[in-house]
Amino acid sequence: MATADGHDQPVAPSVVSLRRLEGGFLHLPMRFFVQGANTDEVRRVPCMAWLIENHNLKKKVLFDMGLRKDVESYTPAVFRRMQTTVKAEIPEDIYDSLRKMQIDPQSDVDSVIFSHLHYDHVGDPSRMGTQTSFVLGPGASDLITGPKSYPENQDSHYDSNLITNGRILNLPSADSNLWVAFGPFPKTYDYFHDGSLLIVLAPGHCPGHINALLRIESDRWVYLAGDTAHDPRILDGTKQMAEYWDDDTGGFKCAHIDKNEAMLHVQRVRDLKNYINVEVILSHDGNWLNSNKHRF
Ligand SMILES: [Zn+2]
Repeated sequence: MATADGHDQPVAPSVVSLRRLEGGFLHLPMRFFVQGANTDEVRRVPCMAWLIENHNLKKKVLFDMGLRKDVESYTPAVFRRMQTTVKAEIPEDIYDSLRKMQIDPQSDVDSVIFSHLHYDHVGDPSRMGTQTSFVLGPGASDLITGPKSYPENQDSHYDSNLITNGRILNLPSADSNLWVAFGPFPKTYDYFHDGSLLIVLAPGHCPGHINALLRIESDRWVYLAGDTAHDPRILDGTKQMAEYWDDDTGGFKCAHIDKNEAMLHVQRVRDLKNYINVEVILSHDGNWLNSNKHRF
């Protein structure tokens, strides 16, 4: 930008602001996630959701929606899981947080970006006003369409009625040249076209898993890592991702559909600090939340 005396001044980069929303808690049996965890070790972890605001563009976007309070409205398979294997507590949900912030979900939220479509991240989209669109990573929408989803498939965790018609915004397919490299990541998408929010392809966890890299100051970034890992010890390399025996299928299972891809992505997230000044936040990191309750 040229000033009156003809000298160029650097233009400040666009930034977003970030606020945390309550999304309830899960009681995670750690043997599903951390190799070598005791079979009876259960940790109460948050399902964090976020409000991202681009003040220049006057846009409000959510990243994930945590758990819904009316758990009986999940598909029967999810509801069963919540009664048996992974218990939940939802003292407050994102709608409680938005109300406290005086943000009206019926009119004020432009879009919701889902890191992925697992039940602990999608909340209750039906309570958002009709102006809100729901942004999905490449391949995610296949999970909630077609005969594999509920109710055609009664055992599915994915509900074909999750998002009403016409409100899904699919990000470009992974082979589109709209995805460009940034730092250690081969594929990122500039969501607001001003560099303040990069969507990052995060393969390995489940179809369409994406993360968000936010510029919150000119030299300060936050990386919302979704379910890249379910425990910070996996991110810092002191523990490994679990593979555990599953009686139902008679085989070994992993919380990620492709463990090798998931581990490669974890390594990229670790490497990010070599490029920028960044704080990485996992959706279910209870340690992070305990020490950062009043930030964001
Ligand atoms: Zn999750």
